[in-house]
Order: sequence, then structure tokens, then C-alpha cells
Amino acid sequence: MGPILEIKGVSKSFEGVLALNNLDVEVSEGEIRAIIGPNGSGKTTLINVITGVFPATSGRIIFKGQDITGLSPFRIARKGITRTFQNLRLFPSLTVLEHVLAAQHHRSRVGFWGSVFSTRSGRAEEEGMVSRAQEILEFVGLKGRADMPGLGLPYGQRRLLEIARALATGPELLLLDEPAAGLSSEEIQALERLLREIRSRGITVILVEHRMMLVMNVADRITVLNYGEKIAEGKPAEIKNNPEVIQAYLGRAYAAAGS
Ligand code: ADP
Ligand code: MG
Repeated sequence: MGPILEIKGVSKSFEGVLALNNLDVEVSEGEIRAIIGPNGSGKTTLINVITGVFPATSGRIIFKGQDITGLSPFRIARKGITRTFQNLRLFPSLTVLEHVLAAQHHRSRVGFWGSVFSTRSGRAEEEGMVSRAQEILEFVGLKGRADMPGLGLPYGQRRLLEIARALATGPELLLLDEPAAGLSSEEIQALERLLREIRSRGITVILVEHRMMLVMNVADRITVLNYGEKIAEGKPAEIKNNPEVIQAYLGRAYAAAGS
């Protein structure tokens, strides 16, 4: 399949710090593309630039053949690109279900006016949204947690709720910023299964992740960043044995985590 996302010569500088340096990356439709690299190598910046949080200093970003460079985060999200955050962003007053409902609300056709006037179609749509939200919760493994406060979930399940919210927007491209951070090895195995399920639904995934076992197990291809530059790209087996990658990153990553 062709590329769903093309990053062409993208640079991003922050007051002299070149966080991304003339980066070229093509992500194929339907793949899980891992992005790895040392701390500060530009992984989160890449997600921020793709989703419009920061404009690129130079270069173009093409999504499904359309130039999305410089569009607002809102418009980029509307095109089907959704991300999660490295640090979780849950709301103290919302239940698990409400988090998912809030995320899918902008997809609603009846939308704001429908809920204000509580028209019949509005009510029917709301019921549809609730059952869809329940399905998404079940899909990520949070069945039975719907009525708990989001912040009442154990940490690993909060990470799943973040993914549920992202899925609720109906993305074609899902960007995950270190979804396995802080998870137990059992939780990482569940996440690995979930990522495969997400891919099997036709959603393309960009996975920024430090946990190498997970990356090597699920990624179709891996792009390695170092100081904002791409130093390698390929299948997990190729990356695992690449001397430059081992030197810049993998040697340390395996030694640190035993993962
Ligand atoms: P990673 O996610 O790979 O750890 P980041 O993308 O967060 O790396 O950071 C890449 C570089 O850009 C770092 O030097 C970081 O300090 C810098 N950087 C990232 N975001 C900002 C920002 N908002 N303002 C200034 N510098 C930033
Ligand atoms: Mg980061």
C-alpha cells in the first residue's frame, strides 16, 4: 500500500536547538511504525509537528496526498490524525465512559444543538454514542470500568483509557507517545495485543516507545532518530543488528531496562 503519511525535509528548531533536522519519513498505510531514539532525539517533537501543535520550521507534511503543513491541530484532527500524550491528561471530574464520550463528541452529526434541544434524533444519537463508547472500552480491555472516575483507575488502565479516547475520534492515523511507560510486563503484553488489534482494524499506528521488547515484537518497521536526524530505518531484525543504532541507542536501552 502507498504512504498514508509523508514527512519531507522537516526541521524544527526551538531557539537554536535543532530538534528535528531535515527529516524524511514515509509511513505506509496500515503499518505499525515505531520511532525510537535516545531522550531528546526529537520523537515527541515529531508527533507535535505532525499534529500541528508546533509548526515545522521548514519542510512539508503530506497526509493521504494532501499537504497538511501549517494546519491547526483541530483541522489536522478532523482529517483523521489523533495522538496520545507522554504524560497522561485525564479530567478529575469525568468517569471513564465520559472521557470516551467527550472524545467522540465532535464526530456527532447532531452535535451541540441536538444535545441542547434533546430532539428525538439527538437522543437516538446519544444512545448510539454511549453504546459505541462501551464497545471501545471493551476493545481496549476496560469493560466494567465505565462508571469509575477516570483518575480512579490504576495507572496501567489510565494508559488504556488514553488510547480509548484517541480511538473514539475515529482516527486513520494514531500516534502514541510512550504508551508502555510505567506498565508492568503483563500490561505490556496486553498492549502488544491491543496494538495488533488496532492495526487489524486498518488504523495506521506511529509508536514512539522505549520498551524495546514491545517495539521489536509489534513494529512492522522502525525509524531511529538521533539528535533530530534519521540514522536508520528498517524491519526490527535489521534495526536490532545495525551497529550505528546499537552504538547510539540500543546498547544503552537494553542495558538500562533489561527489556
Ligand atoms: P524525545 O521525545 O525524543 O525525548 P523531544 O522531542 O521531547 O525528544 O525533544 C527534542 C529536543 O527539542 C530536546 O533538546 C528538547 O529539549 C527540545 N524541545 C522539545 N520541545 C521543546 C519546547 N517546547 N521548547 C524548547 N525546546 C524543546
Ligand atoms: Mg518524548
